[in-house]
Amino acid sequence: MNQSQDRGFHLSISVVAIFVTMVSVLSIINQCGPAMSKVEEQVDGVWRSLASHATHLSGIARSVVHDGSRVPATLAAAMPHKVVSASGNKALANIHVVAVGSDTTAKQVQHVEQLIQRVGVLSIVSHTVGMSLQKPVTIEIADDESDYQAALQKLAMTKQSAANLAEDTGGFTQNSTIVIPMNQNQSEGDLANTLTHEMTHVVFNQNIGTLPSWLNEGIAVFDGMQGQKQVESAVTFAGDERQLAETILDVAQKHQLQPLFADEQVILDGKTSYDYELQDWLAVSDLVSQHGLTAIQDDLQMMQQHVNESTAFIRAFGQPESTFNASLTALLNKASTTKNQGVQLQCNVTQDFTGELEILPQGTTNWQGLDVSDGQYSIDVQADGKLSGQFKTLPVVKDNNGADARTLYISLLPKQPETYQGKKVINSGFAFDVHDGLYAFENAWVSLKDGQTIYTSTPSLFGVSITGVREAATGNALLPLFAAQEKVSN
Ligand SMILES: [Zn+2]
Repeated sequence: MNQSQDRGFHLSISVVAIFVTMVSVLSIINQCGPAMSKVEEQVDGVWRSLASHATHLSGIARSVVHDGSRVPATLAAAMPHKVVSASGNKALANIHVVAVGSDTTAKQVQHVEQLIQRVGVLSIVSHTVGMSLQKPVTIEIADDESDYQAALQKLAMTKQSAANLAEDTGGFTQNSTIVIPMNQNQSEGDLANTLTHEMTHVVFNQNIGTLPSWLNEGIAVFDGMQGQKQVESAVTFAGDERQLAETILDVAQKHQLQPLFADEQVILDGKTSYDYELQDWLAVSDLVSQHGLTAIQDDLQMMQQHVNESTAFIRAFGQPESTFNASLTALLNKASTTKNQGVQLQCNVTQDFTGELEILPQGTTNWQGLDVSDGQYSIDVQADGKLSGQFKTLPVVKDNNGADARTLYISLLPKQPETYQGKKVINSGFAFDVHDGLYAFENAWVSLKDGQTIYTSTPSLFGVSITGVREAATGNALLPLFAAQEKVSN
């Protein structure tokens, strides 16, 4: 048994991951020994790939234009996009998905169309905002960054802005046109998120003249998360949600939170020090948690009827925006100082697995073994790392690496050697990010005999699945906000 090497490697990835906001399905070649430089290269690649995964939520405005006036319609009309293929799927009614650029395929278009239907993109948006499409929307699918950049330029953007946006955003909306770069939305979760996020902007563009940027983005991120929730397991989704929120708690810890209504131009210029959209998302989740979706819809409806933004906010939520901003800041500050209070892990073991699970709680160097067979397990990991539950414990095994204060590991030790993709498995397990009382499923890892380590976002390996991760209800102040996102069904 030797977890140390892979745990060490996993740690180096975690350090990188602290700077990014979302872990999706990814695979890393872990070459040890002389090929270490290659590892660095690969990790850097992952960093970029992770960063790009995260960009659909990143601070630079992904949907900038709330009114059509910034782009001369005649100019846009004079430069029609080259439509490679459009299936004209009738079930999508007002939504036209088209391929742009040289490499985008009809298959990609079809994939997007199917996902829009499967996720119920439009019904998610309508359910949240109480408004729907008034006219057709065009979704342009670009295969890679250069196609994306070309599509943005055709929306009458300067070459430089298009280049910047193509690099930094996972999707873009102008009026009733959405551009989606497929290279930035490789997992179903990311794509579902981006499509629902951008569709929210289109619905606003078609129904409301202006609304505060933070509300626009906050609702778009909220909806995007609803979209993502449709295609991910509950454990993966809750993990992603917590890791995103934790980036804002980090900012709160440093006392660097900006007010919600910080100058939109700062965001447009890309001069933000952190991801404002995520703060906007938590703000909207808080409003939904305290006042319900109907209050959000009332606010939007008033703005649709040209009631002044601040008056509409007071009427809908019974307080001025500034008061709400202060209470949100207080909530985030409080959440950022929460102590870890332990977690209950629900685990399902099928007859495909016989052996042990070993748990290394965060901040400890003791792998604690559980003897498991076919069945459901509820494992309580206390704040100090002690385990309790209905299972047989095995002798503790010391870990040679130093304690990792922010990650809880579950390692699988099957009696029979496992194979993965036809290759012999050396070790495998699940990692959880632990931070401010929040326990977030981070990924599953499988290390193969050939030196490769595969990471996936699915909490299931060799007959062992994590089916629940539950913090104490009295824990982090963000839990009611997550519950609000959880409760909204479509
Ligand atoms: Zn947006």
